[in-house]
Amino acid sequence: MKPILVPHSQYQDVVLRQLQEGNVFLIRKDWPLAAIFWMTDLSPVTDFLQDAYSTRGPLPRDPASMLRSYLLFLMTCPQVGLTEWINVMKRTPIYAILSGFPLDDLPGVSTFYDFLARFWNGSTPHWRPKRQPKRKRKTKRGKKGEKAPTATPGRIKRLVQWILSHPEKNPVLPSDRLFDFFQTQFLSTSASLGLLGDISALTTAGDGTPLVTSVYPRSKPTCDCRARGILVCNHPRLYSQPDCDSGWDSARERYFNGYHLYMISAADSPHDLPLYPRLQSASQHDGVSLVLSTTEFQQRFTLGTVDKMLLDAAHDTEAIYKLLDTHHIEPFIDLNPRGTKNTATGSEVKISPTGIPLCPKGNEMRPNGFDKSQNRRKWRCSPACGCSSAKYGLTYHTFSRDNLRMFPKTLRGSEKWKLIYKRRTSVERSNKREKIDYKLESGRHLSTMMWYNRIYGIMICQHMHAWYLSQKEEWDLLKTVFRPFLA
Ligand SMILES: [Zn+2]
Ligand SMILES: [Zn+2]
Repeated sequence: MKPILVPHSQYQDVVLRQLQEGNVFLIRKDWPLAAIFWMTDLSPVTDFLQDAYSTRGPLPRDPASMLRSYLLFLMTCPQVGLTEWINVMKRTPIYAILSGFPLDDLPGVSTFYDFLARFWNGSTPHWRPKRQPKRKRKTKRGKKGEKAPTATPGRIKRLVQWILSHPEKNPVLPSDRLFDFFQTQFLSTSASLGLLGDISALTTAGDGTPLVTSVYPRSKPTCDCRARGILVCNHPRLYSQPDCDSGWDSARERYFNGYHLYMISAADSPHDLPLYPRLQSASQHDGVSLVLSTTEFQQRFTLGTVDKMLLDAAHDTEAIYKLLDTHHIEPFIDLNPRGTKNTATGSEVKISPTGIPLCPKGNEMRPNGFDKSQNRRKWRCSPACGCSSAKYGLTYHTFSRDNLRMFPKTLRGSEKWKLIYKRRTSVERSNKREKIDYKLESGRHLSTMMWYNRIYGIMICQHMHAWYLSQKEEWDLLKTVFRPFLA
C-alpha cells in the first residue's frame, strides 16, 4: 500500500503523550535533538516517495518517522550499524520517541534498508556491473603531503571538450532522486535562511577526499583456472564493490580501497554547508571529478546562480578555467607552478611563471588598474628602472581572454583575491565534519546506493544542525514545552 501522510502536529502530539505515559526523560545535553526534530516538519517525504511505494501489500511504516530515525542515528551514534541502532532505541527510549515510533513497536533493520532503497532510482545498487576484467595497475603514489598527482591535463582537456560540444547531454543518475529530495526539502530552507551566502551570486568551493570502505578489494573468480592448476589468468572476476577501486590516500600515506568523494560546498556559508556530493572510484583524480561534478551540479541546481568557484592547485589546468568560464563562473585557483621558464610575448616584455609581466631589464612590473571598456589589465614599470624612455615608465596590457589561467579577472594575490580565496577551506572543514563528527567511513556498506544514502543523510544533519544554531534563541524558548521531561 501507499504510505499515509502523518501531519507534523500529530507527530508532536505523539511525542508529548509518549514522554508523559512512558515516564521518559530527556537529558539537557540532548536538548538540541529534541528542538531540531520538534521544529522540522519531515512529513513532505511521504508525498515525495509516493511513487516509490507499491499500491499493494501491507501499510508501510510512516516514512517521516523512518527518516527521522535514520537522521537521529547519524546524529547520535553513527559509528554503530543500523542493527545496533535498533538496540540503542530499545535501551534509550527517548530516541525511539523522537523518531516517532511507538515504544512497543520498533521497525526491524530490513525495514530501514527497504525504506532507504526508495530514494535510489537505479535498477541496481551499484553503478557498474559486478563482473569486470581483472584489475592490474596500481595508481601512482602522490608526493608526501600532496594529493593524487596532477598528471592528467590531457584527459581533463578531452573530457571538457566533449562536455562543451555536447551541452544537451544530461543523463539521469541513480542518485538524482536523493539530490532532488535534498534540494527541495533542505537546500531550499537553508537558502531562505541565508545560510548558503548570496544565492543569486553563489561562491562555491570544491575538493575531493578519500572514502575508505575496506582495506583490500574483494573479488571472486568466474573461472576454474585455479582448480586446474593455472595460478595466473586474465579472466573477469566478480567484485563485491564494483564501483570502488584502489587509490592513494596522501594524508594517511597508504593505499586504500573505496571511493573518491568529491564535494561542492557553499564557501560563504557560516556553517560550511555542503551542496553536492559525487562518488567516483578511488583512483579518480580531483580535476576529473571536478569537471563531472560541477557539470552535473550546474544542470541540477535550480535555487540560484553560481558566480565563483574556489579550487586548490590540484585543479590548475587550462581546461578547467575554460569549463568554468563557459558556465559564467569565475575560477579562483591556486597556481601549480610548472617550471621556472618565462614566457615570451610578441614584444620585449616576458611573462613570469606566475603571470606577472617582466620588463626588458627583468624586473616585475606592477599592476596599474583594470580597464573595463577594453577588458584588459594595465601594468607599469617605474621610470627609475630605466627600461623605457617613456615619461611614466613602460606600460603593458594583459587580456583575460588570452589566458584565463595566467591573467584571471581578479588579480591573483591581490587583497580582493585573498579575501575571496581564503573561504576555500570551508569545503575541507565540511568534508572533515562528515568524516570525523559523523563517522562517514564507519558505514559498513557494500553498495554505492547505501553509501549515497549515508552521505546525503549526513549532509541533511549538517543543514538541520545549522538551522538550530542560526535560530537557537527562538528555538530554545521551546524548552518550556519540554520542561517537565528535562532531566
Ligand atoms: Zn581464469
Ligand atoms: Zn623596468
